[in-house]
Amino acid sequence: MDGAPLYLEPRLEQPLASLLESAAFLHTLVDALGSPLHVVLPERIAENVERFRSVYRRHSLAGQVFFAHKANRSSALVRRLAMTDAAIDVASLGELQHALGAGFGPERIVATGPKDPEFQWLAARCRVTVSIDGPEELESLAALVRAHGLPPVPVLLRLSEFETSGVTVRSRQSRFGSSMRSLPRLLDAVARHRDVLGPAGVAYHLDTTSLDEKATALEGCLRAMDALRRRGFTPRAVDIGGGFGVNYLAHEAEWDRYTTELTHAVLGRRPPLTRGGHGYGLRAEGGTLRGALSLYPAHRPVAGPGYLDALLSRPAPALNRPLGTLLLENLYDLYTEPGRALLDQCGLSLAKVLEVRRTDRGDPLVRLAMTADDVSLEEHGVLMDPVLLAREGAPSETGEGSGPVGVHLAGSLCLEADLITRRTVFLPRMPRPGDLLCFANTAGYCMDFQATQAQRRPAARKVAVHREGGSWRWCLDERYWPITHPGGHEA
Ligand SMILES: *Cc1c(COP(=O)(O)O)cnc(C)c1O
Repeated sequence: MDGAPLYLEPRLEQPLASLLESAAFLHTLVDALGSPLHVVLPERIAENVERFRSVYRRHSLAGQVFFAHKANRSSALVRRLAMTDAAIDVASLGELQHALGAGFGPERIVATGPKDPEFQWLAARCRVTVSIDGPEELESLAALVRAHGLPPVPVLLRLSEFETSGVTVRSRQSRFGSSMRSLPRLLDAVARHRDVLGPAGVAYHLDTTSLDEKATALEGCLRAMDALRRRGFTPRAVDIGGGFGVNYLAHEAEWDRYTTELTHAVLGRRPPLTRGGHGYGLRAEGGTLRGALSLYPAHRPVAGPGYLDALLSRPAPALNRPLGTLLLENLYDLYTEPGRALLDQCGLSLAKVLEVRRTDRGDPLVRLAMTADDVSLEEHGVLMDPVLLAREGAPSETGEGSGPVGVHLAGSLCLEADLITRRTVFLPRMPRPGDLLCFANTAGYCMDFQATQAQRRPAARKVAVHREGGSWRWCLDERYWPITHPGGHEA
Protein backbone atom coordinates (compact mmCIF):
# COMPACT_ATOMS: atom_id res chain seq x y z
CA MET A 1 0.00 0.00 0.00
CA ASP A 2 1.31 3.45 -0.91
CA GLY A 3 1.30 6.04 1.83
CA ALA A 4 -1.08 6.32 4.75
CA PRO A 5 -4.58 4.88 4.36
CA LEU A 6 -7.09 7.42 3.04
CA TYR A 7 -9.95 6.81 5.40
CA LEU A 8 -13.38 8.40 5.03
CA GLU A 9 -14.83 7.70 8.44
CA PRO A 10 -18.62 7.96 8.70
CA ARG A 11 -20.15 10.48 11.09
CA LEU A 12 -22.06 8.55 13.75
CA GLU A 13 -24.51 9.93 16.27
CA GLN A 14 -26.80 8.19 18.73
CA PRO A 15 -28.52 5.83 18.60
CA LEU A 16 -26.78 4.67 15.40
CA ALA A 17 -23.35 4.77 17.08
CA SER A 18 -24.36 2.45 19.89
CA LEU A 19 -26.12 0.09 17.46
CA LEU A 20 -22.84 -0.23 15.59
CA GLU A 21 -21.12 -1.19 18.81
CA SER A 22 -23.52 -4.13 19.13
CA ALA A 23 -21.73 -6.35 16.63
CA ALA A 24 -23.04 -9.62 18.09
CA PHE A 25 -26.64 -8.41 17.74
CA LEU A 26 -26.07 -7.35 14.12
CA HIS A 27 -24.43 -10.71 13.30
CA THR A 28 -27.45 -12.52 14.79
CA LEU A 29 -29.79 -10.48 12.59
CA VAL A 30 -27.86 -11.33 9.42
CA ASP A 31 -27.63 -15.00 10.41
CA ALA A 32 -31.41 -15.08 10.75
CA LEU A 33 -32.52 -12.84 7.89
CA GLY A 34 -29.70 -13.05 5.36
CA SER A 35 -27.32 -10.64 3.69
CA PRO A 36 -27.81 -7.91 2.62
CA LEU A 37 -29.93 -6.52 5.42
CA HIS A 38 -31.16 -2.99 6.06
CA VAL A 39 -31.78 -1.79 9.60
CA VAL A 40 -33.83 1.34 10.36
CA LEU A 41 -34.05 3.34 13.60
CA PRO A 42 -37.53 4.89 13.85
CA GLU A 43 -36.77 6.81 17.05
CA ARG A 44 -34.24 8.91 15.22
CA ILE A 45 -36.60 10.23 12.52
CA ALA A 46 -38.78 11.74 15.26
CA GLU A 47 -35.74 13.47 16.68
CA ASN A 48 -34.82 14.84 13.25
CA VAL A 49 -38.32 16.31 12.86
CA GLU A 50 -37.84 18.06 16.18
CA ARG A 51 -34.54 19.56 14.97
CA PHE A 52 -36.29 21.04 11.91
CA ARG A 53 -39.08 22.29 14.16
CA SER A 54 -36.61 24.11 16.38
CA VAL A 55 -35.43 26.09 13.33
CA TYR A 56 -39.06 27.04 12.59
CA ARG A 57 -39.36 28.22 16.19
CA ARG A 58 -36.13 30.21 16.03
CA HIS A 59 -37.60 32.15 13.09
CA SER A 60 -41.09 32.25 14.67
CA LEU A 61 -42.50 30.51 11.61
CA ALA A 62 -45.53 28.25 11.45
CA GLY A 63 -46.04 25.60 8.80
CA GLN A 64 -45.28 21.96 8.14
CA VAL A 65 -42.32 19.65 7.66
CA PHE A 66 -43.19 17.16 4.90
CA PHE A 67 -41.03 14.04 4.77
CA ALA A 68 -40.20 13.21 1.12
CA HIS A 69 -41.27 9.58 1.18
CA LYS A 70 -39.38 8.60 -1.96
CA ALA A 71 -36.10 8.59 -0.01
CA ASN A 72 -37.06 5.33 1.77
CA ARG A 73 -39.88 2.79 1.36
CA SER A 74 -39.85 1.83 5.05
CA SER A 75 -43.17 1.40 6.84
CA ALA A 76 -41.61 1.70 10.28
CA LEU A 77 -40.18 5.14 9.55
CA VAL A 78 -43.43 6.43 8.02
CA ARG A 79 -45.55 5.06 10.88
CA ARG A 80 -43.23 6.52 13.49
CA LEU A 81 -43.41 9.83 11.65
CA ALA A 82 -47.22 9.74 11.75
CA MET A 83 -46.94 10.01 15.55
CA THR A 84 -45.02 13.30 15.31
CA ASP A 85 -46.43 16.60 14.04
CA ALA A 86 -44.71 16.10 10.68
CA ALA A 87 -46.47 15.70 7.35
CA ILE A 88 -45.51 13.67 4.26
CA ASP A 89 -44.76 14.32 0.59
CA VAL A 90 -45.88 11.45 -1.63
CA ALA A 91 -44.82 11.02 -5.25
CA SER A 92 -46.79 7.96 -6.40
CA LEU A 93 -50.08 6.14 -5.92
CA GLY A 94 -48.33 3.53 -3.77
CA GLU A 95 -46.74 6.17 -1.53
CA LEU A 96 -50.10 7.93 -1.10
CA GLN A 97 -51.80 4.68 -0.11
CA HIS A 98 -48.92 3.91 2.24
CA ALA A 99 -49.16 7.32 3.93
CA LEU A 100 -52.95 7.07 4.36
CA GLY A 101 -52.53 3.56 5.77
CA ALA A 102 -49.88 4.74 8.23
CA GLY A 103 -52.31 7.25 9.74
CA PHE A 104 -51.64 10.48 7.88
CA GLY A 105 -54.83 12.48 7.29
CA PRO A 106 -55.23 14.47 4.04
CA GLU A 107 -54.29 17.76 5.74
CA ARG A 108 -50.85 16.24 6.41
CA ILE A 109 -50.16 15.02 2.86
CA VAL A 110 -48.91 16.77 -0.25
CA ALA A 111 -48.80 14.95 -3.60
CA THR A 112 -45.81 15.96 -5.73
CA GLY A 113 -43.99 14.81 -8.86
CA PRO A 114 -45.36 13.49 -12.14
CA LYS A 115 -48.80 11.97 -11.62
CA ASP A 116 -50.73 9.25 -13.39
CA PRO A 117 -54.56 9.46 -13.45
CA GLU A 118 -55.06 6.96 -10.60
CA PHE A 119 -52.69 8.90 -8.32
CA GLN A 120 -54.39 12.17 -9.27
CA TRP A 121 -57.83 10.73 -8.60
CA LEU A 122 -57.03 9.29 -5.17
CA ALA A 123 -55.31 12.55 -4.17
CA ALA A 124 -58.33 14.60 -5.27
CA ARG A 125 -60.80 12.12 -3.75
CA CYS A 126 -59.04 12.39 -0.35
CA ARG A 127 -58.54 16.17 -0.75
CA VAL A 128 -54.81 16.05 -0.15
CA THR A 129 -52.90 19.12 -1.32
CA VAL A 130 -51.60 18.66 -4.86
CA SER A 131 -48.35 20.29 -5.94
CA ILE A 132 -49.03 21.19 -9.57
CA ASP A 133 -46.13 20.58 -11.89
CA GLY A 134 -47.29 22.66 -14.86
CA PRO A 135 -50.25 24.07 -16.81
CA GLU A 136 -51.13 20.65 -18.30
CA GLU A 137 -51.49 19.12 -14.86
CA LEU A 138 -53.61 22.06 -13.74
CA GLU A 139 -56.02 21.44 -16.63
CA SER A 140 -56.19 17.69 -16.14
CA LEU A 141 -56.77 17.98 -12.37
CA ALA A 142 -59.52 20.57 -12.88
CA ALA A 143 -61.19 18.35 -15.48
CA LEU A 144 -60.99 15.33 -13.17
CA VAL A 145 -62.50 17.20 -10.22
CA ARG A 146 -65.38 18.41 -12.43
CA ALA A 147 -65.96 15.06 -14.10
CA HIS A 148 -66.31 13.27 -10.76
CA GLY A 149 -68.11 16.08 -8.94
CA LEU A 150 -65.40 16.20 -6.26
CA PRO A 151 -65.03 19.04 -3.75
CA PRO A 152 -62.40 21.70 -4.57
CA VAL A 153 -58.78 20.53 -4.22
CA PRO A 154 -56.10 22.64 -2.51
CA VAL A 155 -53.13 23.15 -4.82
CA LEU A 156 -49.59 24.46 -4.63
CA LEU A 157 -48.16 25.95 -7.82
CA ARG A 158 -44.69 24.57 -8.34
CA LEU A 159 -42.47 27.15 -9.99
CA SER A 160 -39.02 27.05 -11.60
CA GLU A 161 -36.46 29.12 -13.49
CA PHE A 162 -36.28 32.04 -11.10
CA GLU A 163 -34.27 35.17 -11.88
CA THR A 164 -33.34 38.18 -9.86
CA SER A 165 -32.92 41.51 -11.64
CA GLY A 166 -29.48 43.03 -11.30
CA VAL A 167 -28.06 39.88 -9.73
CA THR A 168 -26.47 37.18 -11.80
CA VAL A 169 -27.80 34.24 -9.80
CA ARG A 170 -30.33 32.25 -11.77
CA SER A 171 -31.82 28.98 -10.73
CA ARG A 172 -31.07 26.02 -12.95
CA GLN A 173 -33.38 24.58 -15.57
CA SER A 174 -35.70 21.90 -14.35
CA ARG A 175 -38.01 19.36 -15.91
CA PHE A 176 -40.45 20.17 -13.12
CA GLY A 177 -42.53 23.19 -12.29
CA SER A 178 -43.86 26.12 -14.37
CA SER A 179 -41.34 28.72 -15.44
CA MET A 180 -41.64 32.02 -13.56
CA ARG A 181 -41.93 33.73 -16.94
CA SER A 182 -45.22 31.94 -17.60
CA LEU A 183 -46.70 32.87 -14.20
CA PRO A 184 -49.31 35.32 -15.59
CA ARG A 185 -50.71 32.63 -17.90
CA LEU A 186 -50.69 30.07 -15.09
CA LEU A 187 -52.64 32.49 -12.89
CA ASP A 188 -55.18 33.00 -15.69
CA ALA A 189 -55.75 29.25 -15.67
CA VAL A 190 -56.03 29.15 -11.87
CA ALA A 191 -58.62 31.94 -12.04
CA ARG A 192 -60.59 30.02 -14.67
CA HIS A 193 -60.69 26.96 -12.40
CA ARG A 194 -61.30 28.71 -9.09
CA ASP A 195 -64.51 26.71 -8.53
CA VAL A 196 -62.56 23.42 -8.40
CA LEU A 197 -58.98 24.32 -7.40
CA GLY A 198 -57.96 26.46 -4.42
CA PRO A 199 -54.42 27.85 -4.52
CA ALA A 200 -52.88 27.21 -1.09
CA GLY A 201 -49.56 28.69 -2.14
CA VAL A 202 -46.50 28.26 -4.31
CA ALA A 203 -43.59 25.83 -4.28
CA TYR A 204 -40.15 25.04 -5.61
CA HIS A 205 -37.75 22.15 -5.23
CA LEU A 206 -34.21 22.65 -6.47
CA ASP A 207 -31.66 19.89 -6.50
CA THR A 208 -28.71 22.09 -5.61
CA THR A 209 -26.53 22.81 -2.60
CA SER A 210 -26.31 26.51 -3.52
CA LEU A 211 -27.85 28.84 -0.93
CA ASP A 212 -27.76 31.67 -3.48
CA GLU A 213 -29.92 29.77 -5.92
CA LYS A 214 -32.37 28.82 -3.22
CA ALA A 215 -32.56 32.39 -1.91
CA THR A 216 -33.35 33.57 -5.44
CA ALA A 217 -36.08 30.93 -5.74
CA LEU A 218 -37.58 31.76 -2.36
CA GLU A 219 -37.70 35.44 -3.18
CA GLY A 220 -39.31 34.54 -6.52
CA CYS A 221 -41.96 32.62 -4.59
CA LEU A 222 -42.69 35.69 -2.44
CA ARG A 223 -43.30 37.69 -5.63
CA ALA A 224 -45.56 34.93 -6.95
CA MET A 225 -47.54 35.06 -3.67
CA ASP A 226 -48.04 38.81 -4.22
CA ALA A 227 -49.27 38.11 -7.73
CA LEU A 228 -51.78 35.57 -6.42
CA ARG A 229 -53.05 38.05 -3.84
CA ARG A 230 -53.44 40.75 -6.48
CA ARG A 231 -55.73 38.34 -8.30
CA GLY A 232 -57.91 38.07 -5.20
CA PHE A 233 -56.66 34.73 -3.88
CA THR A 234 -55.59 34.16 -0.27
CA PRO A 235 -52.56 31.84 -0.51
CA ARG A 236 -50.93 30.92 2.80
CA ALA A 237 -47.97 28.64 2.19
CA VAL A 238 -44.55 28.83 0.58
CA ASP A 239 -43.13 25.36 -0.02
CA ILE A 240 -39.34 25.42 -0.41
CA GLY A 241 -38.95 21.71 -1.23
CA GLY A 242 -36.08 19.56 0.02
CA GLY A 243 -32.36 19.32 -0.59
CA PHE A 244 -31.13 20.34 2.89
CA GLY A 245 -28.51 17.62 2.75
CA VAL A 246 -26.59 15.42 5.14
CA ASN A 247 -23.09 15.56 6.50
CA TYR A 248 -21.85 11.99 6.04
CA LEU A 249 -18.27 12.23 7.23
CA ALA A 250 -16.75 12.60 10.68
CA HIS A 251 -13.68 14.58 9.61
CA GLU A 252 -13.38 17.45 7.18
CA ALA A 253 -9.61 16.87 6.94
CA GLU A 254 -10.11 13.32 5.64
CA TRP A 255 -12.44 14.57 2.91
CA ASP A 256 -10.09 17.37 1.88
CA ARG A 257 -7.15 15.02 1.80
CA TYR A 258 -9.05 12.37 -0.14
CA THR A 259 -10.26 14.76 -2.85
CA THR A 260 -6.77 16.26 -3.15
CA GLU A 261 -5.19 12.84 -3.52
CA LEU A 262 -7.85 11.89 -6.07
CA THR A 263 -6.82 14.80 -8.29
CA HIS A 264 -3.18 13.71 -7.93
CA ALA A 265 -4.14 10.16 -8.91
CA VAL A 266 -6.07 11.40 -11.96
CA LEU A 267 -3.00 13.41 -13.00
CA GLY A 268 -0.82 10.30 -12.59
CA ARG A 269 1.17 11.78 -9.73
CA ARG A 270 0.31 8.93 -7.41
CA PRO A 271 -1.03 5.37 -7.82
CA PRO A 272 -4.75 5.14 -8.67
CA LEU A 273 -7.33 5.42 -5.88
CA THR A 274 -10.06 3.72 -7.87
CA ARG A 275 -10.48 0.57 -9.89
CA GLY A 276 -9.45 1.25 -13.48
CA GLY A 277 -8.36 4.79 -12.62
CA HIS A 278 -11.95 6.09 -12.61
CA GLY A 279 -11.87 9.82 -11.81
CA TYR A 280 -15.42 10.56 -10.54
CA GLY A 281 -15.86 13.17 -13.23
CA LEU A 282 -12.23 14.34 -13.29
CA ARG A 283 -9.81 13.52 -16.10
CA ALA A 284 -6.36 14.52 -17.21
CA GLU A 285 -5.80 16.16 -20.59
CA GLY A 286 -2.18 16.78 -21.49
CA GLY A 287 -1.18 17.03 -17.84
CA THR A 288 -4.07 19.37 -16.95
CA LEU A 289 -7.05 18.51 -14.78
CA ARG A 290 -10.42 18.70 -16.62
CA GLY A 291 -14.02 18.01 -15.74
CA ALA A 292 -15.69 18.49 -12.39
CA LEU A 293 -15.98 16.23 -9.38
CA SER A 294 -19.38 14.51 -9.66
CA LEU A 295 -19.59 13.44 -6.03
CA TYR A 296 -21.91 14.29 -3.18
CA PRO A 297 -20.11 16.77 -0.89
CA ALA A 298 -19.83 14.07 1.76
CA HIS A 299 -18.47 16.47 4.34
CA ARG A 300 -21.07 19.24 4.66
CA PRO A 301 -20.61 21.40 7.74
CA VAL A 302 -23.91 23.19 7.02
CA ALA A 303 -26.56 20.54 6.37
CA GLY A 304 -30.08 19.53 7.34
CA PRO A 305 -31.74 21.88 9.85
CA GLY A 306 -28.58 24.02 9.89
CA TYR A 307 -28.94 24.58 6.16
CA LEU A 308 -32.58 25.65 6.61
CA ASP A 309 -31.49 28.08 9.31
CA ALA A 310 -28.81 29.52 7.03
CA LEU A 311 -31.31 29.98 4.19
CA LEU A 312 -33.89 31.72 6.38
CA SER A 313 -31.23 33.99 7.87
CA ARG A 314 -29.98 35.03 4.44
CA PRO A 315 -31.06 38.39 3.02
CA ALA A 316 -33.35 38.17 0.01
CA PRO A 317 -31.26 39.08 -3.07
CA ALA A 318 -33.36 42.09 -4.13
CA LEU A 319 -35.46 42.94 -1.06
CA ASN A 320 -32.29 42.64 1.04
CA ARG A 321 -33.96 41.52 4.29
CA PRO A 322 -33.77 38.04 5.82
CA LEU A 323 -36.00 35.56 4.01
CA GLY A 324 -37.35 34.24 7.34
CA THR A 325 -38.40 37.77 8.34
CA LEU A 326 -40.17 38.30 5.01
CA LEU A 327 -42.12 35.07 5.46
CA LEU A 328 -43.05 36.03 9.02
CA GLU A 329 -44.16 39.57 8.14
CA ASN A 330 -46.52 38.19 5.54
CA LEU A 331 -47.75 35.55 8.01
CA TYR A 332 -46.98 32.85 5.47
CA ASP A 333 -46.66 29.21 6.51
CA LEU A 334 -43.33 27.65 5.65
CA TYR A 335 -43.49 24.20 4.08
CA THR A 336 -40.31 22.15 3.77
CA GLU A 337 -39.90 18.72 2.13
CA PRO A 338 -36.71 17.16 3.48
CA GLY A 339 -36.02 13.61 2.35
CA ARG A 340 -32.37 12.77 2.90
CA ALA A 341 -32.02 15.20 5.82
CA LEU A 342 -34.90 13.69 7.83
CA LEU A 343 -33.29 10.26 7.37
CA ASP A 344 -29.91 11.34 8.69
CA GLN A 345 -28.62 8.69 11.13
CA CYS A 346 -31.81 6.62 10.67
CA GLY A 347 -30.31 3.35 9.50
CA LEU A 348 -27.51 1.15 8.26
CA SER A 349 -26.95 -1.62 5.72
CA LEU A 350 -25.14 -4.88 6.42
CA ALA A 351 -23.29 -7.19 4.05
CA LYS A 352 -21.56 -10.46 4.79
CA VAL A 353 -18.04 -11.00 3.46
CA LEU A 354 -18.12 -14.08 1.21
CA GLU A 355 -14.62 -14.26 -0.19
CA VAL A 356 -11.31 -12.44 -0.15
CA ARG A 357 -8.90 -13.00 -3.02
CA ARG A 358 -6.06 -11.39 -4.87
CA THR A 359 -6.49 -10.28 -8.45
CA ASP A 360 -3.75 -11.09 -10.98
CA ARG A 361 -2.21 -7.72 -10.16
CA GLY A 362 -2.17 -8.62 -6.49
CA ASP A 363 -4.96 -6.27 -5.38
CA PRO A 364 -7.24 -7.68 -2.72
CA LEU A 365 -10.85 -8.08 -3.88
CA VAL A 366 -13.51 -8.55 -1.21
CA ARG A 367 -16.76 -10.12 -2.46
CA LEU A 368 -19.88 -9.30 -0.49
CA ALA A 369 -23.31 -10.91 -0.27
CA MET A 370 -24.84 -7.68 -1.61
CA THR A 371 -25.03 -5.85 -4.94
CA ALA A 372 -24.23 -2.25 -5.80
CA ASP A 373 -27.99 -1.63 -6.06
CA ASP A 374 -28.62 -2.87 -2.52
CA VAL A 375 -26.54 -0.05 -1.12
CA SER A 376 -26.52 2.65 -3.75
CA LEU A 377 -24.00 4.94 -2.09
CA GLU A 378 -21.91 4.93 -5.26
CA GLU A 379 -24.91 5.67 -7.50
CA HIS A 380 -25.64 8.70 -5.32
CA GLY A 381 -21.99 9.74 -5.29
CA VAL A 382 -21.56 9.33 -1.52
CA LEU A 383 -18.06 8.16 -0.59
CA MET A 384 -17.86 6.80 2.95
CA ASP A 385 -16.06 3.83 4.52
CA PRO A 386 -17.92 0.77 5.75
CA VAL A 387 -17.30 -0.32 9.33
CA LEU A 388 -15.81 -3.79 9.77
CA LEU A 389 -17.68 -5.94 12.30
CA ALA A 390 -15.68 -9.08 13.10
CA ARG A 391 -17.43 -12.33 13.67
CA GLU A 392 -17.24 -13.30 17.33
CA GLY A 393 -14.63 -15.91 18.13
CA ALA A 394 -12.57 -14.86 15.10
CA PRO A 395 -8.79 -15.17 15.51
CA SER A 396 -7.08 -12.24 17.22
CA GLU A 397 -5.66 -9.35 15.25
CA THR A 398 -2.07 -10.44 14.76
CA GLY A 399 0.13 -11.69 11.99
CA GLU A 400 -0.42 -11.29 8.27
CA GLY A 401 -3.25 -8.97 7.29
CA SER A 402 -3.54 -7.38 10.69
CA GLY A 403 -2.70 -3.84 9.57
CA PRO A 404 -4.57 -1.35 7.35
CA VAL A 405 -5.31 -2.50 3.79
CA GLY A 406 -6.70 -0.98 0.62
CA VAL A 407 -9.29 -3.29 -0.96
CA HIS A 408 -11.92 -3.27 -3.68
CA LEU A 409 -15.47 -4.26 -2.79
CA ALA A 410 -17.28 -6.42 -5.32
CA GLY A 411 -20.97 -7.29 -5.34
CA SER A 412 -22.48 -10.70 -5.89
CA LEU A 413 -23.88 -10.21 -9.40
CA CYS A 414 -22.30 -11.97 -12.34
CA LEU A 415 -21.38 -8.61 -13.83
CA GLU A 416 -18.06 -6.80 -14.09
CA ALA A 417 -19.74 -3.51 -13.22
CA ASP A 418 -21.15 -4.82 -9.95
CA LEU A 419 -18.73 -3.02 -7.68
CA ILE A 420 -20.10 -1.70 -4.40
CA THR A 421 -17.79 1.24 -5.02
CA ARG A 422 -15.13 1.93 -7.64
CA ARG A 423 -13.03 3.45 -4.91
CA THR A 424 -10.15 1.69 -3.19
CA VAL A 425 -11.53 1.31 0.32
CA PHE A 426 -9.12 1.39 3.25
CA LEU A 427 -9.96 -0.87 6.16
CA PRO A 428 -8.14 -1.26 9.48
CA ARG A 429 -7.38 -4.90 8.59
CA MET A 430 -8.08 -7.46 5.90
CA PRO A 431 -11.67 -8.72 6.22
CA ARG A 432 -12.33 -12.46 6.56
CA PRO A 433 -15.24 -14.51 5.26
CA GLY A 434 -18.03 -14.31 7.81
CA ASP A 435 -17.19 -10.74 8.88
CA LEU A 436 -19.80 -8.07 8.28
CA LEU A 437 -19.26 -4.78 6.53
CA CYS A 438 -21.64 -2.16 7.83
CA PHE A 439 -22.52 0.83 5.67
CA ALA A 440 -23.72 3.48 8.08
CA ASN A 441 -26.29 6.20 7.47
CA THR A 442 -27.83 4.65 4.35
CA ALA A 443 -31.52 5.36 5.10
CA GLY A 444 -31.66 8.31 2.67
CA TYR A 445 -31.91 6.91 -0.90
CA CYS A 446 -29.24 4.24 -0.41
CA MET A 447 -31.43 1.34 0.80
CA ASP A 448 -34.12 0.71 -1.76
CA PHE A 449 -34.13 3.48 -4.34
CA GLN A 450 -32.16 1.40 -6.85
CA ALA A 451 -33.01 -2.09 -5.57
CA THR A 452 -33.74 -4.73 -8.19
CA GLN A 453 -34.29 -8.46 -8.11
CA ALA A 454 -31.70 -9.21 -10.78
CA GLN A 455 -30.69 -12.87 -11.09
CA ARG A 456 -33.84 -13.75 -9.11
CA ARG A 457 -32.12 -12.75 -5.92
CA PRO A 458 -34.60 -11.85 -3.21
CA ALA A 459 -34.69 -8.16 -2.32
CA ALA A 460 -32.87 -7.24 0.88
CA ARG A 461 -35.00 -7.44 3.99
CA LYS A 462 -35.52 -4.46 6.21
CA VAL A 463 -35.90 -4.56 9.98
CA ALA A 464 -36.69 -1.86 12.54
CA VAL A 465 -34.77 -1.82 15.80
CA HIS A 466 -35.33 -0.04 19.08
CA ARG A 467 -33.76 -0.06 22.53
CA GLU A 468 -35.55 -1.59 25.45
CA GLY A 469 -33.82 -1.38 28.79
CA GLY A 470 -30.20 -2.07 28.01
CA SER A 471 -30.71 -4.18 24.90
CA TRP A 472 -31.72 -3.93 21.28
CA ARG A 473 -35.01 -5.40 20.02
CA TRP A 474 -35.99 -5.85 16.41
CA CYS A 475 -38.98 -6.65 14.19
CA LEU A 476 -39.60 -6.84 10.45
CA ASP A 477 -40.10 -3.36 9.04
CA GLU A 478 -43.66 -4.11 7.90
CA ARG A 479 -44.61 -5.37 11.36
CA TYR A 480 -43.50 -2.25 13.20
CA TRP A 481 -46.24 -0.10 14.74
CA PRO A 482 -45.10 2.65 17.09
CA ILE A 483 -47.67 1.99 19.81
CA THR A 484 -46.38 -1.53 20.38
CA HIS A 485 -42.75 -0.48 20.22
CA PRO A 486 -41.23 1.61 22.97
CA GLY A 487 -39.64 4.84 21.99
CA GLY A 488 -42.89 5.90 20.33
CA HIS A 489 -45.12 8.50 21.95
CA GLU A 490 -47.56 11.02 20.56
CA ALA A 491 -46.16 14.46 19.79
C1 LIG B 1 -36.89 14.39 -3.99
C2 LIG B 1 -37.72 15.53 -3.58
C3 LIG B 1 -37.59 16.06 -2.28
C4 LIG B 1 -36.57 15.57 -1.29
O1 LIG B 1 -35.26 15.92 -1.64
P1 LIG B 1 -34.05 15.66 -0.60
O2 LIG B 1 -32.86 16.07 -1.35
O3 LIG B 1 -34.08 14.20 -0.29
O4 LIG B 1 -34.31 16.49 0.60
C5 LIG B 1 -38.47 17.06 -1.91
N1 LIG B 1 -39.40 17.56 -2.77
C6 LIG B 1 -39.53 17.09 -4.04
C7 LIG B 1 -40.56 17.68 -4.93
C8 LIG B 1 -38.69 16.07 -4.47
O5 LIG B 1 -38.82 15.62 -5.73
